[in-house]
Amino acid sequence: MRLASFRIDDRQHVGAVSADGKEILPLHDSSGEPIRDMVEAIRRFDEIREVRLKGKALPLAEVRLEAPLPRPARNIFCVGKNYHAHAHEFTRSGFDSSASSQAEAIPNAPFIFTKTPETVIGHGQPILYPTGVSEKVDYEAELAVIIGKPGRGIAKNRALDHVWGYTILNDVTARDLQARHKQWFLGKSLDTFCPMGPWAVTADELDGSKLNLRCWVNGELRQDANTRDLIFDIPTLIETISAGITLQPGDVIATGTPVGVGIGFDPPKFLQPGDEVTIEIEGIGRLSNRLVEKP
Ligand code: MG
Repeated sequence: MRLASFRIDDRQHVGAVSADGKEILPLHDSSGEPIRDMVEAIRRFDEIREVRLKGKALPLAEVRLEAPLPRPARNIFCVGKNYHAHAHEFTRSGFDSSASSQAEAIPNAPFIFTKTPETVIGHGQPILYPTGVSEKVDYEAELAVIIGKPGRGIAKNRALDHVWGYTILNDVTARDLQARHKQWFLGKSLDTFCPMGPWAVTADELDGSKLNLRCWVNGELRQDANTRDLIFDIPTLIETISAGITLQPGDVIATGTPVGVGIGFDPPKFLQPGDEVTIEIEGIGRLSNRLVEKP
């Protein structure tokens, strides 16, 4: 199923998006109560799936789509430098405070950082250009994993049992803050710096290990890769994070971005107000957001 969070009359709902992406059917539980929260939909997914979808489908164009998890319960887990060619372009750019030479470009263990829940915005919502805070704003197209079954100490060979679904995520980054402060949190967590969506696709319909992923800025193709090229695959990431942290339903893991980010170009191609970033992942859809100067 393709599930989206959306609003009608300022009330939150969760709905199933039709195959053609034109309609959305609000979800209900077995007693007919509407499902208003994606984490609830994840926790009760088996029940919801069994319930005959009631109600009338709405044209998708008439609802306000939000990120699948509009405000995650805690920080989003992110993976840095998880594609070989990107790790090299990042280290070469001079913005990588985690490596001083190309010999250190490829991490020996997954490089994990987080973004705050408040960074999340949905498809079509504006990324606020942080005038006066950063002049080096960059995009990062990524496949994000959504956890369904909680767990700690999850072994690689059971990791996919804990994956509920997948979505698209843009790990927007202030490169100047990322480099200046050495630690990545600040440059990754500016308001609106985590576009996510347009919806989630459940893991029974999608294999996250081999998906084509592309990213355009103003229609110019910048990133074109496949998730099979991840340095640390999804089971390894889940095993690593869950070793000492209990994963919860609704947790999001952004798996890293491939080569082709703005700092990979010479000269770098940083985002400017008015620019539009579009990310497409095979089997999920397209996530588009425009940068808007903060008033
Ligand atoms: Mg990233």
